[in-house]
Amino acid sequence: MANRLDAKVAVVTGTGSYPGIGHAIAIACASEGATVLCTDLDEMGAQACAEEIKREGGKAHFLRHDVSSPSSWGEVLEYTKVELGPLDVLVNNAGIAVLKSLDDLTLDDFRRQLDVNLVGPFIGMRSAIPYMRGTGGGSIVNIVSIAGSIGSPMGIAYGASKGGLWAMSKAVAVECAPDNIRCNTVHPGTIWTNMLAVSTGATAPTEVPFASSVPLKRVGDASDVANAVIYLSSDESCYVTGAEIYVDGGITSQVGLSRPIETAG
Ligand code: NAP
Repeated sequence: MANRLDAKVAVVTGTGSYPGIGHAIAIACASEGATVLCTDLDEMGAQACAEEIKREGGKAHFLRHDVSSPSSWGEVLEYTKVELGPLDVLVNNAGIAVLKSLDDLTLDDFRRQLDVNLVGPFIGMRSAIPYMRGTGGGSIVNIVSIAGSIGSPMGIAYGASKGGLWAMSKAVAVECAPDNIRCNTVHPGTIWTNMLAVSTGATAPTEVPFASSVPLKRVGDASDVANAVIYLSSDESCYVTGAEIYVDGGITSQVGLSRPIETAG
């Protein structure tokens, strides 16, 4: 255990999946001294994450949470206020990947994708920021994806959700900076989690078909993403807002297209 997040309260969404990025972030936040509220649609998964933290001597709570629901966010904020105190860190990690070609993608699919990955973090920030403002500020970390800045087949809905989250995060960063609220993004590449296992059919990181095309020659581990989140959550990054950290083993540097949104329109 270290103390980079000592005495801080962190809400992390999507912690119920193992291996999963939210799980790794929650574990890392707790090991740096934060009290972590682990949330997920999968209540038992969030509970398992919180119990793992407590077994290791950390401080954790859990709640069932649908990030696409304003009332569910209301419960998360109410729990935080009553049980935990000022909210220092919000990590919008929960996400789904609706990977379909344009011909197969229905309007309902598209809306469901945006509801979880884009509207969810919007409701979360809309709920948390007034509270953070009243308690002296905070740090928001939104988990984007390299799919928010490079195109891929079947990535129309997913890419739209992540590109939108990236752009929204920059606007929040600028608007909320005077309130000492920072907002940054982390952009994972190919990370070994349940989501990647389902989308590739691999049963181990070494089986992921495109691992060899990653410049660092491996699929990332969820802890690689968590390490970036810890930096952005901690006071070490107190002069950093509106920034992005790519945790992608060099994929976006290879294609040289890491910033198309900023050059469009
Ligand atoms: P994961 O293993 O599928 O975990 C995502 C978690 O989010 C699951 O526990 C899931 O619960 C939960 N969730 C889904 N919908 C939710 C909702 N409406 N409300 C609350 N929780 C919900 O995925 P992951 O790979 O760790 O991904 C975490 C984040 O990183 C996502 O935002 C993803 O887009 C992003 N990302 C991942 C990769 C990668 O290579 N793995 C790359 C780039 C970005 P259920 O299991 O019950 O659905």
